[in-house]
Amino acid sequence: MLFGRTQKNPIKIADKGVVEWQYATCGYCSTGCSIEVGLNADGKPVASRGVADADVNRGKLCLKGIFEHELFASAGRGTQPLIRGHWHDAWQPTDWNSALDKVHDEIRRVQAKYGPDSVAIISTGQMLTEEFYTLGKLTRGLIGTNNYDGNTTLCMASAVSGYKRSFGSDGPPGCYEDFEHTDCLIAWGSNLPEQHPIIYWRMKEAQERRGFPLIVVDPRVTMLAQNAHMHLAITPGTDVVLQNALMHVIFAEGLEDSRYIAANTNGVDELRTLVASYDPVTASKICGIDEDTIRVVARTLAKAGAAMQIWTMGINQSTHGSDGVVGINNLALITGNIGKPGGTSLSITGQCNAMGTREWSSCSGLPNYRYLENPQHREEVAKFWNVDPEFFPKKRGMFQTDIYQAMEAGQIKGMWLIATNPMSSLPNTARIRKAMEKLEFCCVQDCYQDTESAQYAHLYLPAGTWAEKEGVMTNTERRINLINPIATPPGKAKPDLWIFNRVAERFNKDGKLSFPEKAADIFLEMGELSKGRLADISGMNHALLEKNRGIQWPYTAKQAAQGIAPPKGGKRLYTEDGVFSYPDGKAKLIPLPFIDNNETPDESFPFWLNTGRLIEHWHGRTKTGKIGNNNKFSPIPFIEINPDAAAELGIQRGDYVRLVSRRSDALAMAMPTQRVPKNMVFLPFHFHDCANRLTLGLLDPHSRQPAYKQSAVRIERIADQQAAAKLSMEMRKF
Ligand code: SF4
Repeated sequence: MLFGRTQKNPIKIADKGVVEWQYATCGYCSTGCSIEVGLNADGKPVASRGVADADVNRGKLCLKGIFEHELFASAGRGTQPLIRGHWHDAWQPTDWNSALDKVHDEIRRVQAKYGPDSVAIISTGQMLTEEFYTLGKLTRGLIGTNNYDGNTTLCMASAVSGYKRSFGSDGPPGCYEDFEHTDCLIAWGSNLPEQHPIIYWRMKEAQERRGFPLIVVDPRVTMLAQNAHMHLAITPGTDVVLQNALMHVIFAEGLEDSRYIAANTNGVDELRTLVASYDPVTASKICGIDEDTIRVVARTLAKAGAAMQIWTMGINQSTHGSDGVVGINNLALITGNIGKPGGTSLSITGQCNAMGTREWSSCSGLPNYRYLENPQHREEVAKFWNVDPEFFPKKRGMFQTDIYQAMEAGQIKGMWLIATNPMSSLPNTARIRKAMEKLEFCCVQDCYQDTESAQYAHLYLPAGTWAEKEGVMTNTERRINLINPIATPPGKAKPDLWIFNRVAERFNKDGKLSFPEKAADIFLEMGELSKGRLADISGMNHALLEKNRGIQWPYTAKQAAQGIAPPKGGKRLYTEDGVFSYPDGKAKLIPLPFIDNNETPDESFPFWLNTGRLIEHWHGRTKTGKIGNNNKFSPIPFIEINPDAAAELGIQRGDYVRLVSRRSDALAMAMPTQRVPKNMVFLPFHFHDCANRLTLGLLDPHSRQPAYKQSAVRIERIADQQAAAKLSMEMRKF
């Protein structure tokens, strides 16, 4: 196939012999691109392409999606259940029946000895929603531990917490179509071009057409900041101060939307009183943004016909993460920018199905945003599942980040880890390693056998990945989309749903609860349980999802019965005639006093350590580290360091350096760039035994999300560069 310059040096796409294309949804980020995988005559996946009539990506894919078909045959896949007596021992192959019996017997043994909550179950944002729902039913309805959480605590917990505090429920109110209506966009700690490239393309197209101002708040000159009209290089961890100062100006200059505030919110007097003490002059000394810029941004936001705010990990991964989200919501509410085209507060989610776990996993509560703390919610779900409501805990258990501390203290003795890799993803690796070593029983269920966490397991269950399974995922804008089983799991590996159902059989001997085998049937069961809820999906089914290339919730059975077509896009929550999820229907304006509790640079550790993502890689590189076209562009860890700082330390481009924090040290290559200020280094978090050796485990008090982006380090040039280069390459081999 020829593209572009057809006369001279045309771009030639290799013919891979595709005879059939099959539909799925990309399994990396939460953008939710519709993707087709091409199969050759032997049924082997050989190509990927974007789906042209899908509203989300309109035929496009990013670097990760384009090579996603290579996942199926990548190195390190598990093909056989494995068992061993101690994590020091060598693995022995076992059969599925023995492995599944072991899961049941060890969970019950540990619970009998140490109590029901002594077993932790930690899930992920990577599985399909029907799998989350089934695991939730198994855990809440049969196993009965309250220490059940997802790795989404590491990425989206602050967004969840902030939405709940402001609106009474989780659920991002906006959608991608808002870019096409907005008159002002503020991006807080969000680097769309690298993290969510297709959302960036949607935003950029809209911006080129409409010319709205783009304001980026980020300590680093990210790719998005390079494209911004205004870049606010904020002092790390001080977003709440800037937000309070913006509100100070809005109230002081009478720019608030009084009608909206009176009709839809509570708490404006308390908020007004608090922000009165955050005048721009005082605030500028804390957050590092000059007073005039604060005033200009406040006026631009408040005077826009419709203003949109988005954010990602720059807000969430902080000891003020939940407050930062509430601050964004406060700004949106006082300017009347919720629920209208182009006026919204939209969390840009991380993992492909972090939204699905938020909605359906029962990790932090019960399905479809129900609360364990609410007796009516417990009754509803207990009746639906045929469980005694008294079996449910009356409040949520520990967050993932607290569970490891409980392991250290000996409270947690057993663990079932599903599609997550805490040895790579949690802060302060040394501490996590010690906690893992103390477990009496650890089962790792993952599509990869070679994860760092599997080194501490007693049992390994090989699972299918992505489009080796059938089910749905929800994207950032609440769009549910379908994944078809395009390939089969390798060897004896099985889909996660099959594993959960077989484990459930062992806990459900009397057959009291029902566990449907087919994802399509589970989805219909979820639809029943969603009726009348905020996330009502009762009008959807798998076939309709594929036909529409995904449908945003809510879409109800009543709408379907009335012949109302599913929304194509542009569906919003809390539209002007809508109500918030608090009992009186009003949103809360919450005052946010700032308490400076960050680890900040000092004489011994003079640099801020800022961590983040690269476009080529996905999280811990378990997937992308094995895909040549992703890995070759970023094969080893590096730091961005300011050229002046590098010169003072005698560091040249390409030198290996040692980063030292109060926790440990790590090796990286130095890349001098003006993207970071002189007192900051940026380190991608994808590489095992690197960023998280250094990061601090301080947690947000509301969301329990770690402050990955605000630590302090010092930098040392390594004397023996050859040895450092050898070590760096050795560590990255797969
Ligand atoms: Fe996949 Fe996200 Fe890239 Fe889309 S933007 S192709 S969902 S990784």
